[in-house]
Amino acid sequence: MNKYETVVGLEIHAHLSTESKMFCSCATSPKGKEYEAGKKDEPNVRVCPVCTGQPGTLPVANKKAIEDTILLGLALGSTIPPRFNFERKNYYYPDLPKAYQITSATSPPVVGGGLEIDNDGKTKFVELDHIHLEEDAGKLTHPKSGDYSLVDLNRAGTPLLEIITTPCLSSGVEAAEFMRNLQSILRYLGISDADMEKGQMRCDANISVRKLGAKELGAKVEVKNINSFKMVAGAIDYEAERQIEELESGNKIEQQTRGWNAARGKTIAQRSKEYANDYRYFPEPDIPPIEMGKGKEFDPTVINDRLPELPKEKKKRFQEEYGLSVQDAHTLSANYDLAKYFEETLEHLSQITESPDVARRLGKSTANYIINELLGKITDLDSIYESKITPESFAELIDLLDKGEITGKIAKDILPKMLENGKNPSEIVKKEGIKKVDDSAVEKIVDKVLADNPKEVERCRAGEVKLMGFFVGQVMKESRGQAEPGVANKVLKEKLS
Ligand SMILES: [Zn+2]
Repeated sequence: MNKYETVVGLEIHAHLSTESKMFCSCATSPKGKEYEAGKKDEPNVRVCPVCTGQPGTLPVANKKAIEDTILLGLALGSTIPPRFNFERKNYYYPDLPKAYQITSATSPPVVGGGLEIDNDGKTKFVELDHIHLEEDAGKLTHPKSGDYSLVDLNRAGTPLLEIITTPCLSSGVEAAEFMRNLQSILRYLGISDADMEKGQMRCDANISVRKLGAKELGAKVEVKNINSFKMVAGAIDYEAERQIEELESGNKIEQQTRGWNAARGKTIAQRSKEYANDYRYFPEPDIPPIEMGKGKEFDPTVINDRLPELPKEKKKRFQEEYGLSVQDAHTLSANYDLAKYFEETLEHLSQITESPDVARRLGKSTANYIINELLGKITDLDSIYESKITPESFAELIDLLDKGEITGKIAKDILPKMLENGKNPSEIVKKEGIKKVDDSAVEKIVDKVLADNPKEVERCRAGEVKLMGFFVGQVMKESRGQAEPGVANKVLKEKLS
């Protein structure tokens, strides 16, 4: 069997979370108390003559959206060219009222740059081709009964970033990791919620395979509208495997567009791409070129002041301030929600203990506890904030441990209960009567364990030191995990020497 490598490039779409749409003043999302209380969004309520494509209307570019795009470029170390053009991409589809989309794909505002990702301890720089700014289309729904479709233009005109990588990714896992890191950056910058479940971020993947060592790229298959991290990894790995099987059975790969069918775990052919669409791009005559540069309307040196602490800097600070390992600092900083959760926990810890230096002292153990105990139990959640343990409650657990009111074993027993019912650790401790066994009680338990195991006592005294582990285990068992192992060890040593 030949060895193959997978080559993947991603085109990621992310909604910018500006208040208003890209070329008109319509709101991008429903507002008001009714909606916060759960009222359903009605179709075609956030529309106007501009975003419904009425004749004679004039688009006006959203300044905030342009600034946010430049900000992302700066965060990713990209080049900001002196100007870019909005242009018309012409095609007909019922969700596109003007019969053209205003985009900036052929003269983009952001070029190059990239993002370092960590995959299984190995770092890789994922290079970008460019980022462009455009408007989203509306949404079509196809009711099951009836032979008609419905158009909702609430989404039409929403500012949309398209982030295009070079074909430098080599697996589904790597692509998913890149998407996660990119989502974090967008959230760190506060320019997009990038929630894949809500359709605020989605991606198309261009996938090809080639024999290991080959220079030329194989025929490219585009898998469209991938909208979860799990799907990114699954769709890419499936598609690469399918292409290898085709090649191995002597078939050619047809350049085409495929869709991912999550229920069947397969990609399905949608349309052949032998004839590229001709979009007849031309500059948008109603919007002058956008000038960028020092002293220009969009000045990257001014926008640069908006850059917050980014994952790379946060990682460095976590290592310096809390003494975290490179790996732990990376794990916590690469994920926006995780970093926020960690820092909020430390914030609550200093409130509970009323000691400002507690973060410095307990930062490392808090990080360890989040990474080693909590994360493994919530792998099915997209965000740590979806778990029932609030940072406040987690801080309390760390504090109880630190004060020695509970043992590590008790903490490990409590954690799943906190996840299940969202109760505070102190409530659980109180309700279940869990209490650390005090030192004099440990001594009594040690006496009992020694009396129960006379042979082992003799062997240990004769020099078989490794039996200490056995005795500590027996004491922990006898105390139902509520003795402090350190204390048990100390008392055992005294009694056995
Ligand atoms: Zn509008």
